[in-house]
Amino acid sequence: MPDIIITKSGSAGRITLNRPKALNAMTYAMCTAIEAALEAWRADPAVALVIFDAAGEKAFCAGGDIAELYTTGMQGDFAYGQTFWRDEYRLNAKLHCYPKPVISFMQGFTMGGGVGLGCHGSHRVVGETSQIAMPECGIGLIPDVGGSLILASAPGRLGEYLGTTATRMNAGDAILAGFADYFIPQDHWPSLIEKLQETGNCALISAAAQPASEGPVSRDKQLIDRHFSGETLTDIVNALRHDDSAFSQKTLGLMARNSPLAMACSVEAIHRLRGSPEMHKALELEYRFTYRAMEHGDFLEGIRAAIIDKDRNPQWQHTLDAVPSVAVSRMLMPLGRAKLTFEEARMQIGFIGLGNMGAPMAANLIKAGHCVTGFDTAGIIVEGMTNATSAAEAVTRADLVITMLPNGAILRAVADQILPAMHEGSILLDCSTVDVDSTRAVAQDAAARGILALDAPVSGGTGGAKAGTLTFMVGGTEAAFHTAQPLFEIMGQKAVHCGAAGNGQAAKICNNMILGVTMIASCEAFALADKLGLDRQAMFDVVSTSSGYSWTMNAYCPAPGIGPASPADNEYQPGFAADLMLKDLRLSQQAAEAVDADTPLGQAATDLYRRFVEDEDGSGRDFSAMLPRFETRGR
Ligand code: NAD
Repeated sequence: MPDIIITKSGSAGRITLNRPKALNAMTYAMCTAIEAALEAWRADPAVALVIFDAAGEKAFCAGGDIAELYTTGMQGDFAYGQTFWRDEYRLNAKLHCYPKPVISFMQGFTMGGGVGLGCHGSHRVVGETSQIAMPECGIGLIPDVGGSLILASAPGRLGEYLGTTATRMNAGDAILAGFADYFIPQDHWPSLIEKLQETGNCALISAAAQPASEGPVSRDKQLIDRHFSGETLTDIVNALRHDDSAFSQKTLGLMARNSPLAMACSVEAIHRLRGSPEMHKALELEYRFTYRAMEHGDFLEGIRAAIIDKDRNPQWQHTLDAVPSVAVSRMLMPLGRAKLTFEEARMQIGFIGLGNMGAPMAANLIKAGHCVTGFDTAGIIVEGMTNATSAAEAVTRADLVITMLPNGAILRAVADQILPAMHEGSILLDCSTVDVDSTRAVAQDAAARGILALDAPVSGGTGGAKAGTLTFMVGGTEAAFHTAQPLFEIMGQKAVHCGAAGNGQAAKICNNMILGVTMIASCEAFALADKLGLDRQAMFDVVSTSSGYSWTMNAYCPAPGIGPASPADNEYQPGFAADLMLKDLRLSQQAAEAVDADTPLGQAATDLYRRFVEDEDGSGRDFSAMLPRFETRGR
């Protein structure tokens, strides 16, 4: 049986934890599976709400699977734990901010990692057997997975008490402390879950709720508030020691089991959060502690005593009444570059059009760690990419979709297929060179669906695509440009934001009109130099450092054997095909006509490339093969 069962049923996405023998403890694989399901359902109109439940009677989820953390930590590998916690905390944050109702049914033990899963949703249901706790201090950690936020928001001083004593809350106490919302008798749960799946109506939950009976924590609340109001752990311990009531003695007994360093840091973290309780801030603060917990905290010793040797006799670094404040500061000080952030480092990218340019661009994104799902009608496959069987399939889960297609008509046709399949808020990044009208039409369709469109044609050719040194000329909103910036940095060396949608294509068209004209100028000058008896190398040496210099002369010299290596040295294999140059020149003339601009040299270059490609032998050759054409011609 799988450790986790993820299904879509009726109007609900349902996640059932299914490791009852391990009290449904969370593994790293379960964490990533849950995150993937939440992402898939975020914009899925068939999913109205998400249900979390768990197999077995004993536990919803008794925490994280810490045995693996211990093994790696004892080998001096702290990175595994840091990655586990980081990804788990990001999942907790996602649950907290999820745009759809998240309903959890928490029977039996719900502790640590279980609280992170079950207690951040919108409808948290408890029953007769529920026992919720944050027992982290017992293994040398502070209450984490966002638990510190709930503790900091709990009434009075319940947060400090629950965090340092690891007291288990029954349903009534959990509702009082803010870990749960509704008490519903457990024999009602199966039929309620069925109705939720059928209807997608979460109002059924409040309708089924009953009053929960008062728990021991609420009965002790006044004592708790009195004894746990100190600034530090030492203050709290002193207050308890100065009172020989049964409550104080019992409470000191509970605290005596736990790591003093972890308890002192818990009190400090709760105090820092109480002023401005905010989920990301809480997780970021918790991560400062857990990041250091193996190397500098009591965590490994705590696990050894609790679950490895099971001697229940941990040798903590400090004693209950003597945790130096500098030790607390050291565990909670900022992490600098290792700070927990919540931006997805890895993007889901759809890539349509994997030809000479698209394939190497996609390969660079994959190398940088992004998840690319690609589609090309020619069946082109890129290593490490997930192959889709249609353009629409390639984009359904994408945060951002890149198109790299031959022309505007194809772009419009592909946009018709993919825009309905893309989710709202995602970005369509078209890197093809196409006409401004097509670009603006696609951008309008996208905007109508809440999708952000960027036109980002490139210069730099296939060499630049492979080397990741392209230049992007980008049109579209500032926000979308900002989101795509990390990808431009992977695929290129420069991205210029040129303004609103279509302006990227406008820049590209103007640039390539200059390119076509200067290539012709360079080629005809070499042909003239030949006839004048001027050595090509001498001409290059002069022009490349004089006022006639240009990119076509200096960087892409059309004369074989002269200047840096270029397609001329490879028998004019493209490079940048004359056909594509003609396409771009035609785009420039189409645009010039639309806005009534006078472009005589652009027009002449278009005519020459048209003849070269359509009537002569230019098709399929590099656009610098104009030089051998001029060589053979007279005036
Ligand atoms: P290409 O012909 O090699 O690649 C285009 C790919 O799109 C092909 O693999 C084709 O099968 C695929 N395709 C066509 N229709 C499709 C559809 N409906 N769905 C999915 N895939 C489809 O062209 P390229 O050289 O990679 O150029 C792509 C774009 O980049 C063009 O707009 C070009 O002008 C521009 N560009 C090219 C260069 C260059 O040096 N090659 C330089 C700058 C810009």
